[in-house]
Amino acid sequence: MELKYLKGVGPKRAEALSKIGITDIQQFLRLVPRIYLKQVPISRLRFHSDGNVLINCTITEIIKPRKTNHPYKLYVSDNTGIAEIPIFGGGEFRTKQFRLNDKFLFWGKLSDNHNKWALKLDYRDHLKIDDENVNEMVKFRLLPVYELSGELKKTWIRPLLFTKIVFNAFTEIFRNSKFKVEETLPVAILDSLSLRNLEDAIRRINFPIVESDIETSRRRLAFDELFYLEIMIALRKNFQNTSGKGISFNSGLNKIQSEFEGKLPFNLTNAQKKVISEIKNDMASEKSMNRLLQGDVGSGKTIVAVISMLNALDNGYQSALMCPTEILAQQHYITIKNLTEKIGVNVTLLTGGQRKVVREKLLSGIKTGESNIIIGTHALIQDKVEFNKLGLIVIDEQHKFGVMQRAKLKEKGNNPDTLIMTATPIPRTLSLTVYGNLDVSIIDELPVGRIPVKTVLRREEEKPEVFEFIRGEVKKGRQVYIIFPLIEESEKLDLKAAETNFEILKNKIFPDLRVGMVHGRVLWYEKDEEMEKFKNKELDILVATTVIEVGIDIPNANIMLIEDAHRFGLSQLHQLRGRVGRGAEQSYCILISNSGDEHVNSRLQIMCETSDGFKIAEEDMKLRGPGEFFGTKQSGIFNFSCTDLNKDSDILIKARDEAFKIIEADPMLRMDINKPIRDNFIKNYKDSLYLIQIA
Ligand code: ADP
Ligand code: MG
Repeated sequence: MELKYLKGVGPKRAEALSKIGITDIQQFLRLVPRIYLKQVPISRLRFHSDGNVLINCTITEIIKPRKTNHPYKLYVSDNTGIAEIPIFGGGEFRTKQFRLNDKFLFWGKLSDNHNKWALKLDYRDHLKIDDENVNEMVKFRLLPVYELSGELKKTWIRPLLFTKIVFNAFTEIFRNSKFKVEETLPVAILDSLSLRNLEDAIRRINFPIVESDIETSRRRLAFDELFYLEIMIALRKNFQNTSGKGISFNSGLNKIQSEFEGKLPFNLTNAQKKVISEIKNDMASEKSMNRLLQGDVGSGKTIVAVISMLNALDNGYQSALMCPTEILAQQHYITIKNLTEKIGVNVTLLTGGQRKVVREKLLSGIKTGESNIIIGTHALIQDKVEFNKLGLIVIDEQHKFGVMQRAKLKEKGNNPDTLIMTATPIPRTLSLTVYGNLDVSIIDELPVGRIPVKTVLRREEEKPEVFEFIRGEVKKGRQVYIIFPLIEESEKLDLKAAETNFEILKNKIFPDLRVGMVHGRVLWYEKDEEMEKFKNKELDILVATTVIEVGIDIPNANIMLIEDAHRFGLSQLHQLRGRVGRGAEQSYCILISNSGDEHVNSRLQIMCETSDGFKIAEEDMKLRGPGEFFGTKQSGIFNFSCTDLNKDSDILIKARDEAFKIIEADPMLRMDINKPIRDNFIKNYKDSLYLIQIA
């Protein structure tokens, strides 16, 4: 049946519906309500102050407005009482709309301003009860309301009218005996996990009979979404494992590596040893490695990456380390160069900002194989960059890179191994979805002797005491970071504020101390000077914007003061805080915030209570949502209708288990029992495969 013939639709509305992707009647089945409205008797209204209520009533009196700014007043009643509903605007049209003795469903909210003899409702919407279908619909005590965005909102439709159209569509669909909702999951899964069948779930999430129908149906539909996401991930992973031979490194060649480890001033932690052996096993295998390396700030990921790269070098291969920013590339370059220069490793830095002559020379070194470890930014993936023998790719802070960029770097070698490092721990739900095709190594232990950073939250007016405390620590020979926020949207203002505050700190508050400033807007070689001074203890206090977030390592600095802390994300605060607590002394992180918002304060309180980066990441994701946390709002993976990753991790884990089991046993989904999966996959998911990362 064509949409325009559906009751209440017509050609104009059919057109608008097509603009939101509803072009045939069955597409109504994919809608998910935004909220539910509960029908309540007028006498019970005062117990439902949240506003999501409907009354089913008859119009008993109409008072037309005497002045244009007066409302059109309706008095309505059901068997239990009388309510007054003032409706503003609409003029003469209202006379046609509302007639004495007509029956209506009104959506309203109990007004604070009670009439003496009737309850008063703030009007939200109405629906006339004038046909058989609506009569059927109002038998449901809970009725759905849908998100009416875009075209629908612009053109014509009131929420309850839309609900009616959906109900009519459902009636039409389910009245037709030939029509069947194709089940998308194997019966075995439905049974073993006690999930509703699809038809049931779709009906009951829209028109629940009892309230619990909503959640059980939602969970079933969420399972569906996550299951198919994991099917895609499992397919992708299977494809990776079976397509093309990777390099099989001989992990027994320990020449340069052991020389390197012998020169380290510390012993590797057990966790570092464990992940190194996981990586080396992968590198030894013919399959090409796709591994995610997770570890909290300061857990020593860099060393792990270096040893992996030296493993490649022992086998005669080059490694590339790609970083999202020039500063980070620079930082890694210095660290890795310092670590490996003594043992004759040639480390090269390639960035966009280098002069042409320098660049040509570097490119030639990469091409001849003279360069062993090449560190760089996006500059690495330019066409001109040719490697001699690229065997290992290390990606730092990968979520800033697109899939294509990674694939492009990979093409520069002959199926090289890939190690992806995250600077921020990733909540489990994300590592099972966005990075679901990667194997995961976790460094779950910090080097010994680290004293946890004491973190406190202070208000603006407490700053004099904080400054005295800082002065005291400086007198003992310690150094201090003071951080000001700088975000893109208000970059100029932020920078100005930081500079003004720097002057105040330097001249008014700490005239007796040596105060310097660095910020992100200068090139790395310009900022180096102040940073170098701070490193050499020629400065006591370093004022900075977030530039020091990445990999700066100055153990004598033991205090970090963060201004306007509420403007940072939790994970970002955690990264910042990771810059202190690197020495033998007790370190402090002081968060300053004057936000009166309780929400904000309890968020910052999390920082005071834990230094566990994984826990903080989980909280951060809860607060900001996965898309935001992940840094790419458009990431199509999170376009769920029913899933909420923050509360559905149990469903996710089950869905993943089932999906991986199925693909392992039947990689092409050829078996009869998997036919529903195969059919549904081809129909609805095939085109989304590209969303899954190719490492
Ligand atoms: P991450 O990148 O994981 O935040 P880094 O690799 O920058 O951490 O290491 C943080 C600091 O800890 C560095 O100064 C590093 O030299 C040091 N470090 C790394 N591994 C160990 C270890 N096993 N024992 C002591 N210090 C270590
Ligand atoms: Mg690091």
